[in-house]
Amino acid sequence: MAERIPEPLQKKLSERLCFYEDLGVSLFYRDRGASAAQAPLTPTSNSFAPPVSQQISYEEAALPKSIQKPEPPKPTQSSPRAAPPRPMPPQTTAKPDVLPVSAGPSLFEAFDQVPGDTLLKIRTDLGECTRCKLHKTRNTIVFGDGNPKAELVFVGEGPGHDEDMQGLPFVGRAGRLLTQMIEAMGLQRRDVYICNVVKCRPPENRAPEKDEVTPCSPFLLRQIDSIAPKVIVCLGSTAAQTILATNRGISHFRGQWLEFRGRKLMATYHPAYLLRNPGAKGEVWKDLQKVMAVLGLEVKKGKSAEAGKSS
Ligand code: URA
Repeated sequence: MAERIPEPLQKKLSERLCFYEDLGVSLFYRDRGASAAQAPLTPTSNSFAPPVSQQISYEEAALPKSIQKPEPPKPTQSSPRAAPPRPMPPQTTAKPDVLPVSAGPSLFEAFDQVPGDTLLKIRTDLGECTRCKLHKTRNTIVFGDGNPKAELVFVGEGPGHDEDMQGLPFVGRAGRLLTQMIEAMGLQRRDVYICNVVKCRPPENRAPEKDEVTPCSPFLLRQIDSIAPKVIVCLGSTAAQTILATNRGISHFRGQWLEFRGRKLMATYHPAYLLRNPGAKGEVWKDLQKVMAVLGLEVKKGKSAEAGKSS
C-alpha cells in the first residue's frame, strides 16, 4: 500500500500547488504525459480562472426563450466553457496604462452574443422578470441608466433601497459618491452607462446569491455587448467576479487592466466600500485615472486631491 505523506509535507505541497494555481499554472501535476502534448499554460492565459465547477455559468436556460442565439462555432479541442479573464500583456511602450487590446472574443466568449441587440430589446426580454426569488421582494426592476452608446460602463452589484424605490441605479448614498467620481473624471452621469449584476434588490442589501446572479448575468452581458464600451469599470467584487467568472478576491486584480470580450476592464472598489473606508479613495482615484488615460480624458490639476478627500 502507498505510504501516506506526512501532514506537514502535505500542507507544504498544497500551499505550493495553490501558489502555482495563482500563477495560472494548473493541473500540470495531474497528468504530465497529457499536458506535455498540449501548448503550455501561461500565467497570462488563465491567471484568474477558478476551477470550472466554481465558475458562475451563463446557462442557455437563463436566456429568454425569444432570443435566437447564434450558432456557436465548433471548438476544435476540449476547453473550459467560460473563457478565463485575461490580464493585459505587460507594458512595452512609454504610456504605462494604455495597453494594446487583444484580437477579440474567444470562441467561448462569443456564445452569449446576440447580433443586433439593443438595450430596448434586452429590457423587453427581461420583462417583469420572475427568474429568481428576488422578484418576490423587489419594488421595481432596476435595469440600468445612461448613454446607450457610452464609452464607459460602470457595473455595480445590485440595487439598494433607494434604487428599488426609484428604478434607477446608484441614486442612494453610494450613488452620490459614484456621481462625484464620474464628475471628477470630467464626465456627467448621462455620458456613461450604469448598471448592476442583479436587477432586483436583494433583501437587506445582502450580496446576491449564485442562483440570483446566474439567471440575471446574461442580461448584463447583453447590455455590455450592446453598448460596446471602450472600458468597463467593475465596482466591487460581485461585479468583477461575475463578469470575469472568477472567485478570486478583488484585491488580487484591482487596478490592473484586464480584458473582457476584447474590451478593457478595470475592477475597483465599490463606492459603498469607500463610504466605510474613505482611506481607499486614493486607490480608486488612481484606477479611474488609468481609465481616463484610455478614454483620452484630461486629469485636471488638483482633481486627484479633491476626489481623494471628498466624502
Ligand atoms: N449599490 C450597487 O451596487 N448598485 C446600486 O445601484 C446601488 C448601490
